[in-house]
Amino acid sequence: MRTLNKFLSAATAAAAIGGAVVASSSPAMAAGRNGVCDPGEFCYYFNSNNQGSVSDFTGSVADYGAKQPSCYEFKGAGNGRGVCVKNNAASVWNRSGSTVRVYYNSRYGGRYQDFGPGARGNLNSALKNQNASHQYLGSTPPPPSQHTNMSWALYLANGGRITCGFDGYHGTPGRHEGIDIARGIGSDVHALVAGQIINVVWGRTGGSGLSTIAVYNSSLNKTIIYLHSAPLGSLRIGQWVNRGQLIASESYRGISSASGAHTHVEMRLGRKTLAAKSVNDWNLENPNPTSFWISQGYNVR
Ligand SMILES: [Zn+2]
Repeated sequence: MRTLNKFLSAATAAAAIGGAVVASSSPAMAAGRNGVCDPGEFCYYFNSNNQGSVSDFTGSVADYGAKQPSCYEFKGAGNGRGVCVKNNAASVWNRSGSTVRVYYNSRYGGRYQDFGPGARGNLNSALKNQNASHQYLGSTPPPPSQHTNMSWALYLANGGRITCGFDGYHGTPGRHEGIDIARGIGSDVHALVAGQIINVVWGRTGGSGLSTIAVYNSSLNKTIIYLHSAPLGSLRIGQWVNRGQLIASESYRGISSASGAHTHVEMRLGRKTLAAKSVNDWNLENPNPTSFWISQGYNVR
């Protein structure tokens, strides 16, 4: 039954696409997950040629889930409404400012197809009804309407929270040079800014095992340093990482107790392979990073 619905005449499809463009000409904000492909969003369609029910997204998703009621589903009116998007999408419209990559596997793995900003089209034969994740690439910051909280974006999941802000130590001697965010041991940690890995230290759990991932973005001339998490074993110096790419899992490397597990995220000026010293150091080396994070599309929350 669904197979029949997947086929439309070219004329019908073209007319419908034309109508969709006119209908969306108002400056709507990216609402997200409302079944309408708003400006700023990346959207899947159940049918080819941007037909059928829409599933709209404002960021990367590593795993859609495969079953109701918890999966990401097609939400818009039309064929496929209520069906999980995993392995059921036939076409896309990328209304975001970033290139979006659709993957065959969950967690951004396997064969993929890229859609540049504004692009729309059918998934190729390898990806049609075989889509399992999608990822926003590039460093184009989203507009303010799409800003996401850092404590969400680091994990691409709910449940994270800032436990200590920049220069926000209470009861610890020194000046805090980064922002501490915690969600729980084992949580996936993702790059907040694209760049090249210029240092990776795996460390070990416990107070003397500090881990470090340093990601340098040459166009911004900033380095983002991640401390305490467990870097993926596959990370290599020289490797390019995209915004939203999985880089580590949360741990307590360089922290004495498992209960203190968190990820320290530090913005540094220029190319730096190590974090600035925080504990027991009263010299604040880094500037307040709030305006930087906002410029990258994040709320410091
Ligand atoms: Zn910290």
